[in-house]
Amino acid sequence: MEKEILAEIKDLSVTYPTRIGSVSAVDHVNFNIYKGEILGLVGESGCGKSTLGKALLRMIDPPGEISNGKIVFRGENIMEYDYNHLRDFRGRHVSMIFQDPMTSLNPVQRVDEHLIETIQVHEPQTKEDSALQRSKVMIERLGIGIERLYSYPHQLSGGMRQRVMTGIGLILNADLIIADEATTSLDVIVEAKLADQLREIRDEFGVSLLLITHNIALVAEMADRIAVMYAGHLVEIGDIYKIFEEPKHPYTQGLLASVPNIRFDTNEHLYKMPGEPPNLTHPPLGCRFHPRCPHAMPICSQREPLLVEIEEGWSVHCWLYQEQSS
Ligand code: SF4
Repeated sequence: MEKEILAEIKDLSVTYPTRIGSVSAVDHVNFNIYKGEILGLVGESGCGKSTLGKALLRMIDPPGEISNGKIVFRGENIMEYDYNHLRDFRGRHVSMIFQDPMTSLNPVQRVDEHLIETIQVHEPQTKEDSALQRSKVMIERLGIGIERLYSYPHQLSGGMRQRVMTGIGLILNADLIIADEATTSLDVIVEAKLADQLREIRDEFGVSLLLITHNIALVAEMADRIAVMYAGHLVEIGDIYKIFEEPKHPYTQGLLASVPNIRFDTNEHLYKMPGEPPNLTHPPLGCRFHPRCPHAMPICSQREPLLVEIEEGWSVHCWLYQEQSS
């Protein structure tokens, strides 16, 4: 069945000026997000995955900027939105859950006030009692006791705060939720519960979820597809099962080999990726991974490969999979 495209990220770059030069934190990235899918976006710290998540909401803090490309959401180029349009887009169509919900929740507002305000800002015609009713339904749907509706954020556990943030995202029927390390600060049991709920929410509401994380196990458990970033580049994207079974890009191979799995023989050592991620003010020429790559060839340090589709829905950014004359 043909998948419906929700968002198209086209040739997107985000740059930050620094005293020693411009940093390309996201560099000419291309991919789609499909309706109702869970896409896991992974990579080492500093690879650009959180910057990419913020760019999708046009939330890059100055002096950083989206310096190239566009984001097409449900057929509209959001780069052309003015302030009011953008504000409506952020609340109504896309919402973001951060690692620490305390930074997003107002500490002097109760849960009901957060939810009612969200509804009334975007739907001013909605009466307060009707907004309250919707808030109650949402809170119960997320497995939070109705009595918690009148709690302040500091009176909730970390897991409950994340569910409240999810509720704020869903109360207007958002099309896309971006969860940026949303489960990182939770213990494993609460994390597993939140992961289950996010999956159920996807199934029930048909919402798409962009799961930005360094937690490969979480992506393996939840995602339909995986996108791997390295030093600002998208280096591999495709079906989760295929990539976990046979990763193509040498960086993806190293990343997956460095994660313990249930079949891991205790006498074996985990793979340790050699070297460090590059300094993005002066990234290596050609493929940015070449100083760490066990398969590097002469061309790798001279020319940057393209992101090419090696089979339907599976693309790789590596000279091993493309004509070197291209
Ligand atoms: Fe390794 Fe070359 Fe592929 Fe880069 S392009 S990942 S250096 S083989």
